[in-house]
Amino acid sequence: MRTMTKTGYLRCEVCAKVTQVKIEVGYLDAFPLYVNCGHCGTLFSGRYAKNDEEVTASAVFRNATEIDASEADTVDYFCDASGELIMRKVAPAQRAADLMVPPVWMAFHRRLGPNGMKALFGRMVELHRTVNGPAAHEWSRVLDLWFNGKHAYLSAQLADVLDGTPLAGPVSAGRYVQAIRKLTRTLFAPLYGSERNGEFVRRVSASLRTLKITREAGLKAYLRRLHEMGLFDSCEKIAYGQLRNGLGRFEQLIPAFTLSELTDAERAALFAPDSAYGMTTLSFEDIKFLYVDLFESVVKVLPVIVGLNNLLHRGSHHAFLNGGATGKKTSVSSLEQYVDLYTAADKMKLIDYGEAFSVAMHGELNNKLRNAIGHYAYRYDSLEQKIVYDNGRKVMSLLQFGYGCYELILTLLDLFDLTMFLHEVHDHYFPDENVSNNVI
Ligand SMILES: [Zn+2]
Repeated sequence: MRTMTKTGYLRCEVCAKVTQVKIEVGYLDAFPLYVNCGHCGTLFSGRYAKNDEEVTASAVFRNATEIDASEADTVDYFCDASGELIMRKVAPAQRAADLMVPPVWMAFHRRLGPNGMKALFGRMVELHRTVNGPAAHEWSRVLDLWFNGKHAYLSAQLADVLDGTPLAGPVSAGRYVQAIRKLTRTLFAPLYGSERNGEFVRRVSASLRTLKITREAGLKAYLRRLHEMGLFDSCEKIAYGQLRNGLGRFEQLIPAFTLSELTDAERAALFAPDSAYGMTTLSFEDIKFLYVDLFESVVKVLPVIVGLNNLLHRGSHHAFLNGGATGKKTSVSSLEQYVDLYTAADKMKLIDYGEAFSVAMHGELNNKLRNAIGHYAYRYDSLEQKIVYDNGRKVMSLLQFGYGCYELILTLLDLFDLTMFLHEVHDHYFPDENVSNNVI
């Protein structure tokens, strides 16, 4: 096992209390660290860095001074810190034995076993490298050229990145989009997990096959309408744009990503607001708008799923769920009306999470949380890592919030995949239309 522990002692520059921090020296070379002083609440923010060649690891914190164990007369608080896994929240050190407690990530390692850990961290190290290395910049540059319509440069850039030959013009926009999709899938593959993505692709392909066999005319009409409404283009661009916005925060969400390996029951126990466990890679204030952005992007792409569910389960893409999640009858009778619905809440009422294409949805969209962040109507307790919202009626742990961001990222990736499949089916049914409308 590569993991070791670096134990540090931090003296708060405000109240002088000392906190023992056990930092995981794990797979990642660098990660952000956020620890609060258990006494005065001051945030010690910093960054950890490991140098494999010299076998050293160091962490530099703002608002705290690192001292030697011998300099600390008493240790007042203790916690764990990790860039990869859950940690034990800051707690008062009441007995000497408290300082000997093994860090919680050791239990996580035992739970997954050496092979599980190796597979998981193979993906996470790759993800970390991607978001901090040139691959993310190259992808971002390609997106800018595409969004700005600079197709001559786009062709050369794509060839460079994909190790291919430049796309010779004139070619259809569809070919650029295919190359960009390929690049995007490669970039985000560590996050997908091949097994999970394989299952998603299998289920969506089966439902699409059913549609082709049983309702082909309806499927064609629906795809044609998506094309005419410009939804393929807008949904794909929304998904790309939002994934790019979130990319810089992925590093901070890795401890939440790794929770995907646990069972629902295990996660629920960790998410209890009074659980002793949390994460040290992010502060809620830094990451809260990522949730809002991801939420809004998913809502904008919802018409794609809802239309497919309508078609498969009720025979027409205009046949909306009557009654919806709230039990109230809907007045929405066309996809166009649905797209025009003003609020996310209205759009969300018309999704049934049990219908076939809702397989792209991971976790439920939390509109109350989204509004609480958007309207600054929440309270955050950084020491307890709890978000209190909905007029004090709801409490969510930071860990659950981080996992909620992860679920929205997965949803966006799956919606992107689904939109991509549909676009391809559309181009298959209407090849001439695609070329004649989009020749560059
Ligand atoms: Zn303090």
